[in-house]
Amino acid sequence: MSRVGIMGGTFNPPHNGHVHAAQQAMAAMRFDRLLLMPDNEPPHKTMPRGSADAAQRLEMTRLMAREIPGAEACDLELRRSGRSYTADTLRALERALPGAELFLILGTDMLLTLDRWREPETLCARAGLVAVARDAADRAALEEKAAWLKEKWDARVFLVDCPALPLSSTDVRASRALCRAMVPPAIFDYIEQQGLYF
Ligand code: ATP
Ligand code: MG
Repeated sequence: MSRVGIMGGTFNPPHNGHVHAAQQAMAAMRFDRLLLMPDNEPPHKTMPRGSADAAQRLEMTRLMAREIPGAEACDLELRRSGRSYTADTLRALERALPGAELFLILGTDMLLTLDRWREPETLCARAGLVAVARDAADRAALEEKAAWLKEKWDARVFLVDCPALPLSSTDVRASRALCRAMVPPAIFDYIEQQGLYF
């Protein structure tokens, strides 16, 4: 049975924290494929000024995929109009990849809020949850939430044992110097060429 990791995100822009989390999850879980899936930001949601549009986020996600053997960008959510729910995405992937074993890769903030997503019990039933700490101090909270999700919905949670790389797209959008230092060079070149953020 093929093992498929799914890392969703806004990827506005992808940065070394995303690459690190994806690589560490790949190494720990030995996925056959890793899908990097930009989410569909609702049109009414105000994105930060100078932000990338959906096509630009997809292109940067493609560039990110080149950094990680086995990874590919997936435009499944971008092709659907309106807000995408991860539960619907998992159902669509089950149809598209019959027999695949699905895993969601989640940073700290995402695992800690998962019980407030739509249909959390569906997520726990249909995918393993692979959590990556965004900060070394997150570990205890992740362990507590993992135990709670196991108890409540029989979730299969895997905490990736790796050093944290604390960084966010918000940080990167706020500083061209940080962006140059902490975004893969091909993505930084794309940002400059498209005149994004700065
Ligand atoms: P923003 O600041 O715009 O919210 P972000 O850095 O949080 O951006 P997202 O695209 O929102 O990036 O996150 C996509 C996924 O990657 C989420 O599961 C998030 O928790 C995870 N993630 C983001 N940064 C890191 C990091 N430094 N380490 C581990 N996981 C991360
Ligand atoms: Mg975020």
